[in-house]
Order: sequence, then structure tokens, then C-alpha cells
Amino acid sequence: MASMPVTLTDEQRALKAGVAEICKRYPGEYWRQLDQERAYPEAFVTELTRAGYLGALVPPEYGGAGLGILDGGLILETINACGGNAAACHAQMYIMGTVLRHGSEVQKRRYLPKIASGELRLQAFGVTEPNSGSDTTKLQTTAVRQGDRYVVNGQKIFISRVLQSDLMLLLARTTPVDQVTRKTDGLSVFLFDLRRVQGLEVRPLRMMMNHSTNALFFDHMEIPAESLIGEEGRGFAYILDGMNAERILVASDSIGDGRWFVEKAVAYSNQRVVFGRPIGTNQGVQFPIAKAHMAVEAAELMRNKAAALFDAGEPCGPEANMAKYLAAEAAWDAANACVDCHGGYGFAEEYDVERKFREARLYKTAPVNQNLVMAYVAEHVLGLPRSY
Ligand SMILES: Cc1cc2nc3c(=O)[nH]c(=O)nc-3n(C[C@H](O)[C@H](O)[C@H](O)COP(=O)(O)OP(=O)(O)OC[C@H]3O[C@@H](n4cnc5c(N)ncnc54)[C@H](O)[C@@H]3O)c2cc1C
Repeated sequence: MASMPVTLTDEQRALKAGVAEICKRYPGEYWRQLDQERAYPEAFVTELTRAGYLGALVPPEYGGAGLGILDGGLILETINACGGNAAACHAQMYIMGTVLRHGSEVQKRRYLPKIASGELRLQAFGVTEPNSGSDTTKLQTTAVRQGDRYVVNGQKIFISRVLQSDLMLLLARTTPVDQVTRKTDGLSVFLFDLRRVQGLEVRPLRMMMNHSTNALFFDHMEIPAESLIGEEGRGFAYILDGMNAERILVASDSIGDGRWFVEKAVAYSNQRVVFGRPIGTNQGVQFPIAKAHMAVEAAELMRNKAAALFDAGEPCGPEANMAKYLAAEAAWDAANACVDCHGGYGFAEEYDVERKFREARLYKTAPVNQNLVMAYVAEHVLGLPRSY
């Protein structure tokens, strides 16, 4: 049965300290420069991978560390709490979960050890489409079986790290929606080698934050039939299966952001003197920071509960969703308190506050928007009518 510790183990503290040690070598200037160039954190990801952190969730029999989801979350949280951006790292951690849970033994042996070692990057996950958005079952990209291949046609939008990844996990429709009983049927998941395909155009999008995000155009892109993960037509269920892990890890990103903002805000408010005293003396300055701190603490508790249930193999949909929601809100409140107390300096690039502010905002919208989390809680936790 799941139990929820209120303190970290010595191993977990050491894990955080190890990640923080690496982060020291990648200070604000490093992330700022990448942000300006919209460049991928190549050196950071490589170092973290070599140190084994990005293979944390891959089981030992496939070459990974076999750690729990909380440990994975602590790694990401630490990166963001140190001022970095863990987005590329969380992708390498959780996307492989679909292969682990639903892939054949041959696929697992072929890919997981190399994903664990970092020899292969699986950081691209293609779901969102321009015409379907959050309504995933309406996606229009098709994969049609032709002999020993599938032929993929369609478009995706906002797909991150396609140019930095070796492999991509793709959700596409294999049976037209008018030929299935339930709209969730007939979607399939594929894992394919991005380096070997033709018929895929990748158009980078300049986003609010540095996220290596793209629009994709599939024009008769052929992939081998063995790219299919699990059974044809069951892909939607497979993707749903991975969502709790994703929510817990994304919540961890936000908790780290929240910690960073609170720490920055406290340091600055103690040191900045206006009207002859530190600005932190004013309740108008300290209360929003204190409030944000409490929200981050509460979000952490919910993340820990979700992680404890997940690691015990128990259902955790409500907790994982609530953790993602609460953490994203807490980080955003902390971001605003931090910008506010910094006055004009909150908008100056060299303080990193505006960069982190932009980065923290994403998690209120992606990978799932806050409205859909509330709709989930209303329907599945509270028993209210389905609203969409
Ligand atoms: C930087 C970035 C990186 C991303 N990376 C990836 C990626 O790697 N792979 C991938 O597949 N996707 C990715 N996404 C896409 C992301 O998951 C979607 O943007 C997100 O799920 C929302 O979908 P949408 O943009 O189509 O919004 P829409 O579905 O069009 O929704 C717009 C807004 O309408 C509201 N809304 C919609 N439906 C409802 C409802 N039923 N009830 C109440 N409110 C509702 C919400 O507030 C929502 O934010 C990324 C997005 C961004 C911005």
C-alpha cells in the first residue's frame, strides 16, 4: 500500500545534491544565451545524460537506474530550482514510458538501453494538431498500412525537440473515425527513427520561451510496420496511460520554478533598500511571496502523494492532475511576486526573472491546459456532468 513520507531519504537528498552540482556549471548566463538564440541546451543535456540522470526511470534490466517517479521529479525540480529549464530532460524521462509499458520485448531491447545511455534521444512526442487541439481523438494525421510499411500524412503543431531527437513517438489515426465504435478507437502509436525518414518537413516556431518547438508536415512519410507500438487502434489508451507520469514530472518542473522565484524574491527584497529600508519590510511585498511559498509547499505535498501512489502501482489520476494544476498555479503566483518585487529589474534580461517568468507560464497551458484539468476533476472526482 502506498505511504507518503514527509521527508526525503538520504538517497534522495544525495540525488538532488548531485544534480545541483552539475547545475552550478550552467549558471544564468548559459540559459540566457540559449534563450536569446533559441538554442537547445546541448551541453547540459549531454552532461546530465552521461551522469545517468536522464535514464532514471528506465528499469535496470534495460540499462537504466530504475528509480521511482518521485526521484525523477526531484531531478527535474532541482534543475528548475537552480535556474535552468528542465523541459528537454522531462521529455527524455517520460516519453519512453509508452515503449516500456506497451512495446514488444524486441522494441524494448532495441531502444531502451540506448535511451537510458543517451545514445538515442527520444524527446519528441507528436500529438497536437492545428485542427484538433486538446480534442485529441479528432486528430487528422493518418497512418495507412501498405505491406511492410505505414504511410503517414497530415500535420502536427507545437511539437518540441524534433530536430534534436533521434526518435519520435507519434499518435496517428489508423482507422477512420466513421468506422470505429468509439472515437477513442482507431488511433495508433508509432516509434520511428527521425533520422531515416523522408516526407517529413519540420518548420521551427519561435515561441515565447526557448522550447525547440515546431510545426510538422507529413507528406507520404513511410515508416516500417514494426514502428507500431502495441496493438493497432489502441494508441489513445496507451497515451492516456503515460499521462499520470507526465503530469507528476511537469508538476515537478513547476515546483522547481516556484522555489527559484521565491528564493530570488526573498533575496532581492531583503537587499533592495527604498525609502530607507529593505522593501521586504513592507507587507505589500512580503505577503505575495509568503503566499506563493505556501502554494509551492502545498503543490509539493500533492506531487508527493501522486508520486507515492504511482510508485505503488495504485490509481493516481486525480492526484497527478491536481499536482500539475496546483504546481503550475503556484509557480505562476511565485513568478508574479518575483517580478513585482524586482520592480523594473524584473524585466531586465540579466536578472533571469523575465526568462523564468516566460518559462513558468507554459505549464498552465501545456501539456494540458488548466481548464481541462478542472474539467477532469469536476467530472471524475466530483461526479459532475461532463462539460465537453
Ligand atoms: C511551447 C509548447 C510546446 C509544446 N510541445 C508539444 C509537444 O512536444 N507535443 C505535443 O503533442 N504538443 C505540444 N504542445 C501543445 C500543447 O500540448 C497544446 O498547446 C495544449 O495541449 C493546448 O492545445 P491547443 O493549443 O490546441 O489549445 P486548444 O485546444 O485550442 O484550447 C485553447 C484554450 O481553450 C480552452 N479550452 C479548450 N477546450 C476547453 C474545454 N473543453 N473547457 C474549457 N476550456 C477549454 C483552454 O483554456 C485552452 O487553453 C506544446 C505547446 C507549447 C505552447
